[in-house]
Amino acid sequence: MYLVVGKMRSLKLKILGKSVDVNFVEPTRFDKGTYGEADTRGCKIWLSTEGTKESRAITLLHEIIHFICDDFMVELDESQIQPLAQALFIVMQENGIDLLKLLRGGQNGKRATKRI
Ligand SMILES: [Zn+2]
Repeated sequence: MYLVVGKMRSLKLKILGKSVDVNFVEPTRFDKGTYGEADTRGCKIWLSTEGTKESRAITLLHEIIHFICDDFMVELDESQIQPLAQALFIVMQENGIDLLKLLRGGQNGKRATKRI
């Protein structure tokens, strides 16, 4: 079992040359049914600490797709982004690409959780 140390964790992610801050925040920051948010101009992503590791990874992919869409001027709505994020997650899992590893570590991959 892991215990999150501190109220908020964050990590840096490179997305198409941009250095993006990914912040893990309390679910109360979001409307019900929303688990993440992307500020593509401000290079920030907020992810809810709520949900399973898998659902958080899918939300992260969802927000990454927002950055890609913004950069490549592709217009996708939420109902199109969500299945893309889910499918990408599955393909990554099928090929041993562990996105969950990113979410396990804190800043620069350092462990921000304590094993209890
Ligand atoms: Zn979205």
